[in-house]
Amino acid sequence: MSHGEPQGNVHSGKLVIRNIGLVLSGALENPILDADTVVSVDGRITAIGRAKDVDTEGANTIIDANGVTLTPGLIDSHVHPVAGDWTPRQNQMSWIDSNLHGGVTTMISAGEVHMPGRPKDIVGLKAMAIFAQRAFENLRPSGVKVLAGAPVIENGMVEEDFKEMATAGVRWLGEVGLGSVKDGPTARKMVAWARKYGMNSTIHTGGPSIPGSGLIDADVVLEADTDIVGHINGGHTALPDGQIRCICEGCKRGLELVHNGNERSALYTLRLAREMGDLNRVILGTDAPAGSGVQPLGILRMISMLSSLGDVPAEVAFCFATGNTARLRALDCGIIEVGRAADFVFMDKAQHSAGKDILESVRLGDLPGVGMTVIDGLVRSQRSRNTPPAGKVPTIVQG
Ligand SMILES: [Zn+2]
Repeated sequence: MSHGEPQGNVHSGKLVIRNIGLVLSGALENPILDADTVVSVDGRITAIGRAKDVDTEGANTIIDANGVTLTPGLIDSHVHPVAGDWTPRQNQMSWIDSNLHGGVTTMISAGEVHMPGRPKDIVGLKAMAIFAQRAFENLRPSGVKVLAGAPVIENGMVEEDFKEMATAGVRWLGEVGLGSVKDGPTARKMVAWARKYGMNSTIHTGGPSIPGSGLIDADVVLEADTDIVGHINGGHTALPDGQIRCICEGCKRGLELVHNGNERSALYTLRLAREMGDLNRVILGTDAPAGSGVQPLGILRMISMLSSLGDVPAEVAFCFATGNTARLRALDCGIIEVGRAADFVFMDKAQHSAGKDILESVRLGDLPGVGMTVIDGLVRSQRSRNTPPAGKVPTIVQG
């Protein structure tokens, strides 16, 4: 499954998943569903419930979950893709396929900033954003939805530039602060233009990530007013706790916690969000590829770390990487709900985990074992080559 494929329309037919042990919805308000069966047609969820109440006739594909847990496909809110399944950052191949084996079915680009020779002039950066959007739209590595084409704003851009990119299909703004715009007023003006034309935005919060990048402090973050406070726990150098608190209290935007950040600051942010009753703002990313490499299990590791050290029920921590991200990024996946994309991960307690079930195993800090992934109603991978082995795995009984 290492080849890319065109996105196109999906004709996956009717998929029936039966004998599910536990359904984690991804929605914070109702994270565990009373269901053992999920049905999708042509890549869209059409029914969720008990087997006796759901129409399972005429399936093209039947998966017996064998009692394992079904979650929405995980969403990595912060990646830096470049071209296909290659990254020049650590010169690795197939890093996206490896992430699929960690349960990630959707990735959101925070800027294609590792492109060798990346253009920083305005016509060049616009062309590259449109190119990246097209390239990943046309070819999904291993089926993973890589939502790319995320320009990094530079001084001199005008409203017409954002209109032009949005009209051409660009939906995202890469990390504000990675380009020449590092002041609050200019950032605020351009972010507002991007939002006006339907683009969702993020910002580089904290110290420089590599030589050449810069510091973005709480004042700039709050003034820029991006949809997402990108890596509020630093990328990797975090802001002082007082500034993190200012950001959490000073806006209602998404609070992104990344694997390639400061873990103590991530736990501090989580604590603030919980105290404020704002857990619905917490979303997860890896910020990979980066100086610390790529982490195929990065999102699962964040879920487990935040649940075990941050005192959050596992079913809630899963929402940080699914439903919360879908809501704040306006995606049609991330929740097991009728009408949404049929993107799923089958997981089970890893073999020999001390937890009595998958939720307790995550609460104890272990990683779950991935047994299968489905994107748009099609099976994309089976027993993960990267997670600890799942106790039980699903089987394809037809299709
Ligand atoms: Zn960054």
